[in-house]
Amino acid sequence: MGQGLSCASSSYDHDFFTAVQAGDLQAVDSSLKDDPSLLLRTTIYDRLSALHIAAANGRVEVLSMILDRSVSPDVLNRDKQTPLMLAAMHGKIECVQKLLDSGANILMFDSVNGRTCLHHAAYYGHSDCLRAILSAAKSTHVASSWGFARFVNVSDGTGATPLHLAARQKRPSCVHILVDNGALVCASTGRYGFPGSTPLHLAARGGSLDCIRELLARGADRLQRDSSGRMPYEVALKQNHGECAALLNPSAADPLVWPSALKFISELDSETKALLEAALMEGNREREMKILKGTTDSLTSPAHSDKAFDDDVSEGSDAEFCSICFDRVCTIEVQDCRHQMCAQCTLAVCCHSKPNPTTLFLPSPACPFCRSSISRLVTTKARDTGDQNTTSKPRRFRHCSSEGSSSFKGLSSAVGSFGLMGCGSGRITDSSDMVDKL
Ligand SMILES: [Zn+2]
Ligand SMILES: [Zn+2]
Repeated sequence: MGQGLSCASSSYDHDFFTAVQAGDLQAVDSSLKDDPSLLLRTTIYDRLSALHIAAANGRVEVLSMILDRSVSPDVLNRDKQTPLMLAAMHGKIECVQKLLDSGANILMFDSVNGRTCLHHAAYYGHSDCLRAILSAAKSTHVASSWGFARFVNVSDGTGATPLHLAARQKRPSCVHILVDNGALVCASTGRYGFPGSTPLHLAARGGSLDCIRELLARGADRLQRDSSGRMPYEVALKQNHGECAALLNPSAADPLVWPSALKFISELDSETKALLEAALMEGNREREMKILKGTTDSLTSPAHSDKAFDDDVSEGSDAEFCSICFDRVCTIEVQDCRHQMCAQCTLAVCCHSKPNPTTLFLPSPACPFCRSSISRLVTTKARDTGDQNTTSKPRRFRHCSSEGSSSFKGLSSAVGSFGLMGCGSGRITDSSDMVDKL
C-alpha cells in the first residue's frame, strides 16, 4: 500500500516523516516551526505527504495539527490516493472521521484500480470506516450532485462495486452494511474477477458462507449466470466450497428474503430492525441445517447466533407468548393498534403482502389481528422496561375476539407458506399444539 518512509529526499525530511509516523506531536511541531514547507514535501518514491503518513498510521493528533494549518485534505500520492483512502485501507477510523469532518472528498478515484475510499474500506473489511463514509455521503454534496444510491454502487476501473469487493474478500459485515444502504445485490462486474460476476459469484469464489447468507437474504439470485454461463453454485463447486455450494444449489429450498414491504413501514428503528433481521437469519439457519445435513459431518455450529433467540424464549418467564405461533415471545408491537407478535411472525406478515399485479402497488402490510394497516413497528414495551413492568403490560391476546380469530385463520396460511420457505417451525399447523397452549 506504500505508506512506508522509503527514500525521503534528505535525512532532515526523513526525521520529520518519522516523527509523523510515530505520532510524536512535539517533534512534528518543532520541525514545522523551523521549516513550515515540510508540509509540502513528499517521500520520493511513493510521494507520500505528512498527511498521508499520519492517516495511514492512525495518528489523529498529528493529522489534526496538519489539517489546522490549512493543508488540503485531498492531497494525492503517486497512485493518486488521498489520505482518506489510506486511512480507510488501514482501518484508522478516527483519522477517517477527522478527514471527513475536514471536508475530504469521498469521490476521488485512485490510479491503481480507479477505486474510491468506499472501495478500499470494503475491500479491507473495515466496517466502521465504511459506515462513516456512507454517513458522510448522505450529508455532503455527493448526495445531491451524484446521488447516494449511485455513490454506494460506484464502480472501479474494472467494474467492481464496493459490494463486489466485500463479497470477494469475505467481509460479511461490510456486505451487510452495503446492501442495507442500497447496494445492488445482482450487479454484474465488468472485467473484475470473471466477467459478469455478481456479488454472489464472488462470495462463492471466496467461499464465505456468511457473505452468501447476507446476499441471499437480500434477494440475490442463485440462477444469475456470469459471462461464461456459470451460476454461483458452479463456481463454489469448482472451488471446493461444499457448504457454500449446498446453499447456492438452485434445487435447495429457497432462502427467506428480507421483505420489500418493510420499506413501506416508516421509522423502523434500529432495535426493531435488528430483531427482525435476527429472526430472518434464524429462519434461514433452520433451512440451512436441513440443506447442509449430510453434505459434511462437521457443520459449522450455528450456536453463536442461536443465543439471541434463546434469550427471548426462556421457559416459564412472564413474557407474553406470540398468539400466532404460540412458540416465541412477543417482541414486536404493531402501531397504531398496539397488537403484538414475535419477530418471525412479523416477517411472515410482511412477506405475505404481495403487490397488486394490475397496478404494481405494494400495499402496506396489515395487522393480522385487527386488519388495520401497519404504520410502524416497534419493540414491545416489555423489552424496554425489563421484568418489573410485565404484570402491568396489557394482555391483548389471552382472549381472542371472534373477529380476531377469523383474521388469525387467514394468517395461518401465510405463516404456513412462510414455514415452507424455511422460516418458522410450522407449528401453526399443529392443532394439538395450539390446543395445549390455549
Ligand atoms: Zn409468532
Ligand atoms: Zn392490530
